[in-house]
Amino acid sequence: MNQLAPVLNAHSSINVDEQPHAFIFNENNLLKYEMASMQTMSLIHQALRSAKQVHSGVCHKELSKQIARVELNQPLNNVEQALNEVKSLYLDHAVYFHHPKYVAHLNCPVAYPAVIAEQLLTAINSSLDTWDQSAGGTLIEQKIIDWSIERIGLSATADGIFTSGGSQSNLMALLLARDHAAERLSGHLIRDFGLGPDAHRYRIFCSEVSHFSIQKSAALLGLGYNAVVPVAVDKEFKMDLAALDAAIDECKAQGNIPIALVATAGTTDFGSIDPIDKLKTRCKADNLWLHVDAAYGCGLLAADDHRHLLNGIELADSVTLDYHKSFLQPVSSSAFIVADKKQFKHLTHHADYLNPFNDNPQAAPNLVDKSIQTTRRFDALKLWLTLRIMGHEQIGKVFSSVMALARSSYVALKQDPEFELIHQPELSTLVFRFNDKNLSDEQLNLLNYQIKDELFKQGECAIARTKFRGINYLKFTLLNPNTQIEDIKSIAADIKACAYSIKARLKVEETSHE
Ligand SMILES: *Cc1c(COP(=O)(O)O)cnc(C)c1O
Repeated sequence: MNQLAPVLNAHSSINVDEQPHAFIFNENNLLKYEMASMQTMSLIHQALRSAKQVHSGVCHKELSKQIARVELNQPLNNVEQALNEVKSLYLDHAVYFHHPKYVAHLNCPVAYPAVIAEQLLTAINSSLDTWDQSAGGTLIEQKIIDWSIERIGLSATADGIFTSGGSQSNLMALLLARDHAAERLSGHLIRDFGLGPDAHRYRIFCSEVSHFSIQKSAALLGLGYNAVVPVAVDKEFKMDLAALDAAIDECKAQGNIPIALVATAGTTDFGSIDPIDKLKTRCKADNLWLHVDAAYGCGLLAADDHRHLLNGIELADSVTLDYHKSFLQPVSSSAFIVADKKQFKHLTHHADYLNPFNDNPQAAPNLVDKSIQTTRRFDALKLWLTLRIMGHEQIGKVFSSVMALARSSYVALKQDPEFELIHQPELSTLVFRFNDKNLSDEQLNLLNYQIKDELFKQGECAIARTKFRGINYLKFTLLNPNTQIEDIKSIAADIKACAYSIKARLKVEETSHE
């Protein structure tokens, strides 16, 4: 592997002092910091320039041998050597999301204004739990939250908080929904007294293609996986309203208590958007909390030409937004929004040392009252600098362009009888499988399962795999405006080549079994 190209001739190798003071980030050590930053920059430069493939294709066994050889108790005492080690252990084999042929999961390429923000926020290292640990950071986060609320179309009673991701936002939504239901139904306060006697009968409805963090949240909240009722989807992979009605009726007939409904605005696999306004009507009739999981679909909030696809989101009781999926933001960048800010009381802990003046409106704002975290990163600065330098319209244009690419990819693959497509893209994913009428269902499942792994091993591209009603499919997730239809066609050709070689292997196995 190449060594790091020296960027600073005289000081390319920084041998660090032995005094611990020499490592502390402060005005005395700025020169060391700057030199190390230059070397890091050169490393990033090289990594991006030399990443011709999405991934080196290294197997985890080989890499774990190399990692095992590192002796953490013996520091290298040298920045350049340590960076070179990171290069060979990590950068040379990382999975590069900015590569046009990375079309696997919901990982976007990132905007550079967000990357420089990351550098800033780590250097200053504010913690956003209390005003006295962040000052302006608190107000900047609040302004980004208020901007998001405005884009959603919620009223002034709404509020929100940055979270670590969609999973945490969904957990918060269901926590508030659960505690609100207990209070409404029996005046019981779960925050203070734990789950009430009815809690095991609470039920949460979501579509069968909603995100698994809904189930996980129900388990974490003491309701259990079985509290989540998966509702069948229609041909467009949106929650089927008749199936929902039947599921709610059955739930009540069994003596269970419907408390919440999760509408997914952009399902992880199909990008399908549940009919939010119609679901709201259903929620009103049964007093259900309506949570809109827009972890993926939130990109539409920036795309004025497609904003109507989210119609009804402004009627939600709570919303999940993942800027690290469709706002070109680095991980983590995510928000949880609630329509009635009073509901945050269910997770506020009155720790006097943190917020002695909590009841005083003159007191400075402490965001910890709205979070399940305490010490918390200033992730909002990344979106702030992105909006200030690049603007939301540019983010929206990127989202619209990847949606258009998904539609043209659909048209391209549809022309090939060896590809079976199971939906028309609504956002920017495409789910399909390689098909061959001569193969059994079982063989086709195996074949499509293996295609994904084999392509990953080759490293030229990365695609995803998913399962729907027992059948394995392949998936493209398009978030990169640099991915062109030619890239898609070339990946499709790779998939076919891979399928033929696996088929040949299947045949050999068959004959050897005869
Ligand atoms: C990705 C995703 C989540 C989870 O978000 P993380 O940021 O990965 O925790 C939740 N819901 C949907 C629909 C998603 O696509």
